Amino acid sequence: MPSFNESDVLAALRKVINPAAGQDIVTLGMVQGVTVRQGHVGFVLEIPPSEAKRGETLRQAAQKAVEALPEVLSVSAVLTAHKPTGPSPSGTGAPSHGGQRPLVPGVKAIVAVASGKGGVGKSTTATNLALALAALGLKTAILDADIYGPSQPRLMGISGRPTSTDGKILQPLQGHGIKVMSMGFLVPEDTPMIWRGPMVQSALQQMLRDVAWGDLDIMIVDMPPGTGDAQLTMAQQVPLAGAVIVSTPQDIALIDARKGLNMFRKVDVPVLGLIENMSYFSCPHCGQRTEIFAHGGARQEAERLGVEFLGEIPLDLAIRETSDAGQPIVISRPQDPHALVYRDIAARIWTQLEQGNDAHPAPRIIIQ
Ligand code: ADP
Repeated sequence: MPSFNESDVLAALRKVINPAAGQDIVTLGMVQGVTVRQGHVGFVLEIPPSEAKRGETLRQAAQKAVEALPEVLSVSAVLTAHKPTGPSPSGTGAPSHGGQRPLVPGVKAIVAVASGKGGVGKSTTATNLALALAALGLKTAILDADIYGPSQPRLMGISGRPTSTDGKILQPLQGHGIKVMSMGFLVPEDTPMIWRGPMVQSALQQMLRDVAWGDLDIMIVDMPPGTGDAQLTMAQQVPLAGAVIVSTPQDIALIDARKGLNMFRKVDVPVLGLIENMSYFSCPHCGQRTEIFAHGGARQEAERLGVEFLGEIPLDLAIRETSDAGQPIVISRPQDPHALVYRDIAARIWTQLEQGNDAHPAPRIIIQ
């Protein structure tokens, strides 16, 4: 019989330091389920999804450390990117969903910017709205919840990795004066990530709970496009004060937008309104307005659904160029008429939140 036991394994694993946290993996609580059977060792290395990239290196280091013990016959170290122990105590859902401890207690209002499908300009709109809210003097942050295709690093012109002083709480990055957190800061763009449901949830929860957001008036969440299960879960996971739906004027996009409305309705999140993006073409040379798509559909749809029509944003070269260059128009050309459109919409959103907060703990709009 080999003479070593679980505590010898743990002692060996204590020599493996997670460089991100500056502490060993046992102290960090990353090692679970150590088993020793006749010289064969097994354990699970839990890695936060945000550190998934480093996972394999750590796993190999952990395996080597245990293999170095005398009399070890085999080591099986399994990497897992989410905690297998049920839902986290901070729970899910908006405060109105059942009074659990809020995930982000310092944040007064979390607003989702969503779209029924991709490519309608949801992320561009989210960024410009966040910057417009900040320009109103509000303490604002952006959470990029599109973990499959994060756009905020590019849109906000931010690169780099969030740091942590205690190995637990990440410092968000800053761009144009506001805090931003995105999976794009944690995982390189070309790294394919396979996210299973629970991992998506824990990644999102971590980006809310384990980030030093501080006190904020408003957090804008750039949602992943679409209205599938992943989005529904997110809408439930994040304690949302409201949602804003971005749509293009084409009918098909509006059908998708309707699905978006219904999704939030299902989880009891008030829809603050509809934005029509790429509403008309604004000629960069002569400033002439051309209505390429049947314009105005979103306004009619909003009326029909009983939600506020928040405004129309043109299809405009400057909007595209500035966003793709990481200098959104609201920041780089604050007096541009299109920047003013974003600012107007931001003010409407804030007014709605304030009115809602006066009347109810969370604003509520009934959609018929
Ligand atoms: P989504 O988040 O819906 O997938 P994005 O915000 O990434 O969409 O936008 C898709 C592309 O459309 C980007 O290149 C962006 O610069 C461009 N875009 C978005 N809104 C506008 C607009 N109003 N005018 C011109 N280009 C836009």
